[in-house]
Amino acid sequence: LVRLRERLARSKNSLGKGLLTLLSSDKLTDEEWEEIEDTLLAADVGVTDTTEIVDRLRERVKVLGSRTSSQVRALLQEELTTALGVEADRNLNTVTEDGPATVMVVGVNGAGKTTTCGKIARVLIADGNTVVMGAADTFRAAAADQLETWGTRVGAKVVRSHEGADPASVAFDAVKTAKDDQADVVLVDTAGRLQNKVGLMDELGKVKRVVEKHGPVCETLLVLDATTGQNGLQQAKVFTEVCDVTGVILTKLDGTAKGGIVIAVQRQLGVPVKLIGLGEGPDDLAPFEVESFVDALIS
Ligand code: GDP
Repeated sequence: LVRLRERLARSKNSLGKGLLTLLSSDKLTDEEWEEIEDTLLAADVGVTDTTEIVDRLRERVKVLGSRTSSQVRALLQEELTTALGVEADRNLNTVTEDGPATVMVVGVNGAGKTTTCGKIARVLIADGNTVVMGAADTFRAAAADQLETWGTRVGAKVVRSHEGADPASVAFDAVKTAKDDQADVVLVDTAGRLQNKVGLMDELGKVKRVVEKHGPVCETLLVLDATTGQNGLQQAKVFTEVCDVTGVILTKLDGTAKGGIVIAVQRQLGVPVKLIGLGEGPDDLAPFEVESFVDALIS
């Protein structure tokens, strides 16, 4: 938790502290309520959710009247927790009846897919799994090399081909290798070319189809860069429309004051955030837990 606080320091300072301070004011003026709204918007919570959160806070502050700082903290904790939704299943599903569990990793270029594949492999291997990674991002010249470096670092086999090779055939080979090796999990790193919706759909659809020749895809994880804000969210929506996204991984939360994007992602995409990226290193991936996330923001 200490580390989470440290990594979320920028969001904590702008969002958490800002809200705590403002809400502590005894008689909140309209200007102060506007400031609360601005704080949420600046943290990328998004207009609709901000309005909803502020309405609820207004209602509850009215009921409470004068409040102690621990009441303010509890109030904020509850409201942020409600906004994030506690119910979702956030575990990675890597259980299959037979053969390796296949996890597809999708998202726009630069979001952190390759890095995240490496980090996920690290976690799975630490849990006793054997992991194969497929470098199906054949469009970005350095992607396969980068994945290979991660493979060496964390102890996962990497299946790759040449630049420009058919991503679906690399994905097929990766799953086949995982089967032959009796590996537990195969992670397929895909290319994130957002040329147009149809092109993306064709490409990811084809990768998925060949992977499914071996068995069902357990997870399709969408990697989203938290620093791209509402714009990134629009791009993310395209992915949820073209493939069956089962979970979101929000990266680069360490480098941004816009941690409120988690709320927007969760509510607008309707897909649970399962993991968060908190840095560039192999251990900088954490499960997304609503309670500890909110704690870290307002502690
Ligand atoms: P891809 O194009 O989606 O495969 O993206 P990469 O995995 O190549 O990542 C793009 C850049 O983002 C790299 O410099 C990564 O080190 C960096 N990156 C990825 N995840 C995180 C994160 O959680 N925090 C920070 N600070 N940087 C990250």
